[in-house]
Amino acid sequence: MLLKRIIIREEKTEETEKMANIKEQKLRKLKKVFMGGSIIGFLIVGTLASIALAAMVGSFFYYMMDSKLNYEYERVSRLASLYEITNEHDNDDILKLLNNDNNVYIVVDKDDRIITEHGKNTCDLEGGKTIDSQKLKQQIKDEIDEDIEGTVNISGIDLHETIYPDTERNFVSAGDNGSMNVDVKSFMAWLKSDHYEALNDFENEGKNIDLPFWIPVTLSNGDRLIGKAYFVIYIRDIIVMALLASAIVLMLIAVLIIMIINARKMHKSRKRMTEVFYMDEVTGKHNWMWFITNAEQILKKKKNASKKYAVLDIVFVNYRNFCVCHSVSEGEQMLCKVDELIQKRLQKDELIAHYASANFAAMLRYEDRDKLEQRVKSIVSELEHIDSDHRFNFHVGIFRIGESIAENGKPIKRRDIDIDREYNNACTARASLTSDDTAIAFFDEEMVKEQKWIDSVQERQKRAIDNEEFLVYYQPKYDPKTDELRGAEALIRWKAPEEENMISPGRFIPIFEKNGFITEIDHYMLRHVAKDQKAWLDAGCKCVPISVNVSRAHFIESDLAEQIRDIVDSAGTPHDLIEIELTESAFFDDKNAMISTIKKLKDYGFAVSMDDFGAGYSSLNSLKEMPLDVLKLDADFFRNDEGDGRGQIVVAEAIKLAKNLNMRTVAEGVEVREQVEFLASQGCDMIQGYVYDKPMPKESFARKMA
Ligand code: C2E
Ligand code: CA
Ligand code: CA
Repeated sequence: MLLKRIIIREEKTEETEKMANIKEQKLRKLKKVFMGGSIIGFLIVGTLASIALAAMVGSFFYYMMDSKLNYEYERVSRLASLYEITNEHDNDDILKLLNNDNNVYIVVDKDDRIITEHGKNTCDLEGGKTIDSQKLKQQIKDEIDEDIEGTVNISGIDLHETIYPDTERNFVSAGDNGSMNVDVKSFMAWLKSDHYEALNDFENEGKNIDLPFWIPVTLSNGDRLIGKAYFVIYIRDIIVMALLASAIVLMLIAVLIIMIINARKMHKSRKRMTEVFYMDEVTGKHNWMWFITNAEQILKKKKNASKKYAVLDIVFVNYRNFCVCHSVSEGEQMLCKVDELIQKRLQKDELIAHYASANFAAMLRYEDRDKLEQRVKSIVSELEHIDSDHRFNFHVGIFRIGESIAENGKPIKRRDIDIDREYNNACTARASLTSDDTAIAFFDEEMVKEQKWIDSVQERQKRAIDNEEFLVYYQPKYDPKTDELRGAEALIRWKAPEEENMISPGRFIPIFEKNGFITEIDHYMLRHVAKDQKAWLDAGCKCVPISVNVSRAHFIESDLAEQIRDIVDSAGTPHDLIEIELTESAFFDDKNAMISTIKKLKDYGFAVSMDDFGAGYSSLNSLKEMPLDVLKLDADFFRNDEGDGRGQIVVAEAIKLAKNLNMRTVAEGVEVREQVEFLASQGCDMIQGYVYDKPMPKESFARKMA
């Protein structure tokens, strides 16, 4: 998987993606901490402030109640002591003190009979003389009519003996001859109120609140003195308490305001952080992280469930060249322009983001494949002319999301879609474009198959070497004049245990060339060829030189010639029985290193040949500079000959050129007998082609030699 990614999306490594993932996780965590922090902070401060408020009000109340009740209890206890003294000494002065106007009390015996009393009491006691408020209520009620307004005079009631002090103040006043006047409206209100007693007391003169209650104190003879006590809350108490409560409430509000301000600040900074996090460093617009997050959200939206989306990989092909010719910063400005232009062409719920290097990721809605292609073409044709002085090329890979198939063969559900994977598919499609011209490619299943194949080859490569799954086949080279065997080329084959047929090198050599495993393969082949040659030599065979392919990847190693020499030497094979084939493309690398290696190889006694001469870009220059022994004419020379003789002219001239440079020639891929005759007539030294033999296992080749 890792290698696959590198091949397709070489611009962004696994490492940077891992970093991006870590960054996103951190951002999410940070968001959580921000949110969690402010909520938890608010809860803690809120709870602490509420507890403080409750504790302060509570303790204030407790303090008030405690001190006030204590005071009243002390007072009534003193009354009780006074009463006992009066009883014992019958002293008038003391009695006066006791029966001071402020003292209201009743003394009852063990059976609750009233022995003595002072002041106007409202106490219901059984036995003795009692004041029955119910009875009083009834009596007044009987006398008056509810509908009458104003005052009613009720006679026959001794006001002083029976009337409540409180009721008297409110709706009863003394009439003539001991009768009383009752204010009907107030009386009715009093009747309806369950708390008439307490309510009346609230309206005390000093604007304080008096709540009367009775405290019994047991005297030494077992009687009880029940004194009327008042729980007085002064207005100043209430004011202090209100001030205290408001201070706490204000404090709470202040804390709340500070927290709201803080939360807003945090929100802002989080927003800014998110912006920075989702900002592409090059374009200043959206980055890949933003793309993934938003693309997945859009796809998951219910209203988008029936809409079709495609993920695109858009590559600005000329980016690197442009940077080389101008500057990186100008190149980056071009990338900004590309981003902006695509952005302008987008509709709602469509996205564009810079992925890396010259790659952009886009998500577009589409109805059908043709319309999508048309739209992408029109965007790309605008992109080509984004700069008036240049004409640029773009490659676009398109993956239609609806096509995603899970491992079990069923379509992948929207919520399970992994944008990273879909973008990778778009990249795969884009990577299939080989020419540098502007082009669009849709992803198809063949590409998946190809990727899977690459994956499986890479997975098995190490095992294949260890288990000697690679076989050496030999394709003989013949002298076209005499048809004598003159040499052979060693060609690799792979007999993998899980495959029925032999795997041909075309299917795995390019993969190994890309992933660097080719150097192991070349060593493997050289080792086996040297070993075979030695064995045949020891068996008394008349051996011919065998050429081994050496890949260009090898030429970065400065001791390549020494490595080859050592491998051949360890088999004990004479150097003139081994030839080294270098493909033409290898000649474009470090020329000096190449020349030095070729020279060393020749010094060690190995022949060196240039493979595939004439295929792709031929470099006559390299022929001039490289001291080569053999020129292998590519099979292309012998294909598709128009019959007008031009092909033959080229081949004849190539052979002549080689001869003039003191090189032998090998014609590869010859399949037709006439070509053999022609090549013989032109002085071609050897022919390697199906016209003589196909590559064969070493046993068959050994028989040929014998
Ligand atoms: P190449 O080095 O140019 O090898 C010649 C290829 O042409 C061989 O294909 C051979 O089987 C094929 N060929 C020879 N005569 C004819 C003919 O008359 N008609 C046709 N149609 N084909 C002919 P092969 O063995 O499949 O190898 C393909 C390529 O794989 C080789 O091209 C070479 O580039 C690479 N390769 C093979 N073995 C090795 C190896 O051991 N090491 C390296 N580095 N590359 C190898
Ligand atoms: Ca070759
Ligand atoms: Ca060749």
